[in-house]
Amino acid sequence: MTQQVLVLAPHPDDAEFYAGGTLAKMIAAGATVTIVIATNGDKGSFELEATRLAEVRRMEALRAASLLGVREVLFLDHVDGELDRLPPGHLRGQFMRTIRQQRPDVLFTFDPFAPFEDHPDHRAVAFAALEAASFAPYPLHHPEQIEEGSAVHQVAEAYFFAKHPMYANKAVDIGETLELKIAALQEHKSQIAFLYEDWVRKATLASEGLVTAMPEITSREGGAAQGMAWMIRQQARADGAAVGIPFAERFRYPTTVGQRPMAKRETAVELRSDRPAPPPKWTG
Ligand SMILES: [Zn+2]
Repeated sequence: MTQQVLVLAPHPDDAEFYAGGTLAKMIAAGATVTIVIATNGDKGSFELEATRLAEVRRMEALRAASLLGVREVLFLDHVDGELDRLPPGHLRGQFMRTIRQQRPDVLFTFDPFAPFEDHPDHRAVAFAALEAASFAPYPLHHPEQIEEGSAVHQVAEAYFFAKHPMYANKAVDIGETLELKIAALQEHKSQIAFLYEDWVRKATLASEGLVTAMPEITSREGGAAQGMAWMIRQQARADGAAVGIPFAERFRYPTTVGQRPMAKRETAVELRSDRPAPPPKWTG
């Protein structure tokens, strides 16, 4: 049976940033992936006006997902940076409906218990997603969804990603899909420009900034895309080094969704792959 994977993401580029290599690997192994993006991403620019930015980011998300082989991208279109202004429980209810309709075997989302997360949308999605997955099996939670025709659903597996994956206990070898992950991220052109400009501004404030740590970058124009690729490779290398492999993505992976973290322990895990990974599309 085809493995159904659901990603609950706050912003249009989070799925690729935090799990692109693993998702590509699962797709190569036959899985079907759906990404739900909670916000329209209309805050991530120094230049574009918000309405235009939301349109641009929607197209970028679709192109990136298409490169990875994602089946469907669903947009909830909430305002970026303001998920904490939704009525209490609203996002949890939306995610529960999505889970009951999509019926995923595997869920990917932010880890609500990882430390040092400064983004309110990341925290909001993390808690709402965990709560939705934990209570989707019980019919008295949001009974209107059952009356609408959805059935209760138990998510079997969850991969929680984080900026600081303190409780990571699973590493996925992404050696074969790292270049595809980078290619997908390169589709988020507005964010490459935005993040790079942000790095440049911060680096001028810091005595030892990120920009000075990227020796191959000489100009803002050509440098932004290279800088993104450099950063993703560095992160994958660091995550791989934690378990003694070249490139990895790391997750907290509880044995049962909703259970407290397992013992802090790193395990290299090979996902089964029936056919070779797609060839890398990004060079340079
Ligand atoms: Zn985000």
